[in-house]
This record gives sequence, structure tokens and C-alpha cells, in this order.
Amino acid sequence: MDLTVLFNISYGLYLVTSNDGTKDNGAIVNTICQVTNTPNRVAVTISKDNYSHYIIKNTGIMNVNCLTEDTPFKVFENFGFQSGKNVDKFADWNFTRSSNGLAILNEYSNSYISLKVEQYVDLDTHGMFICAVEDGENLSSAPTMTYSYYHKNVKPNPNTNTKKGFVCKICGYVYEGDTLPDDFVCPLCKHGASDFEPLS
Ligand code: FE
Repeated sequence: MDLTVLFNISYGLYLVTSNDGTKDNGAIVNTICQVTNTPNRVAVTISKDNYSHYIIKNTGIMNVNCLTEDTPFKVFENFGFQSGKNVDKFADWNFTRSSNGLAILNEYSNSYISLKVEQYVDLDTHGMFICAVEDGENLSSAPTMTYSYYHKNVKPNPNTNTKKGFVCKICGYVYEGDTLPDDFVCPLCKHGASDFEPLS
């Protein structure tokens, strides 16, 4: 089959915030979807490699901040390409708190939704949190950034002067060389070799 059919599913991009008891954490997530409406439930799927997965599995709460089209690449670098295990991701950002105590990124979010986990589904590499909607607020009328908008307009374009190499489809990192090792991991966004394509 042609696996590129999967590229036709549309996604938004969101900053999911949580707190481990000592500091605020945030992760960039695209796999968020409202799945029922009576009552309202939202499913959030997060890689088990992410510190946020560990925190949310333990605390049972999170905020979803809906990122807007004007969100700069530095937001994705800060919250998406490093781990909250090692850094305080909110150290350099202005934020407020919702009624559940979790962070809201005021700039670059058009709204936040406070979620409480009702069910957890183990998906091997990922965990799916099926959540009740506890609270939420609109912050602006700016459109939510889609994953395709990010790929077209936000992710840096690769340096096309490089003759031979591979570019990370997620973050734009360029690996220079004739062949890309199968076990290569992007130093920027930590995605594997399957998310690289040859420079044309
Ligand atoms: Fe990358």
C-alpha cells in the first residue's frame, strides 16, 4: 500500500502543559482530537519517551494550548526539541495559570482547554489519554496552526547549497553525507531516520 495516504489526515499543533510538582512542563503534540460530545471528551496521544507522558500518567491533568499560525519556530524548538527532564521549559516565557494550576501560554495560543484524564489506553510506543473537559477559555481569534501550515511556513527551509544529504521532515535539520545510517536520530527533534528524505 501507499503509506503516504496517511499524510492526508489533517492535524493541529498544540502545546500540552503539565506540572510534575516542582516545575511546569510543556510538549508539542499534534495528536489531539475531540472524540465525543455528550459529554465532551478529548483524546490526547503522547509518546512514552516524553516526560509529559510520565507526568500526566501520574497527575491525571493537563492543559491543551491551541497554537496560532503566528507561532514562531523558537516555540517548537523550546517545547518540542528538548526534554523537560533536563530543562525548565517555561523559564523564559510569560505565562499565567488556569483554575487547575497549570500553565497557559498567553502569546501564540488562541485558547486553552483544561483536561482531566478518565481513561488510559496503552498503545505500545504511545499512551492515549481520554479526557473530560473541565474548563477552557478563548484568548484570541487567530487561527489554529495546522501541521501542514507548520511544514509550509514555519519549519526552516534546508540549505539547498548542500550537495548531498538528508533533511529531517519534522524540523529541517540537514545531515550531510551520501548515506543516512538506519539508526540515525535527529539531534534537534529526536525523530528517527524514517522521518528524513534526501535533499533534491
Ligand atoms: Fe529533526
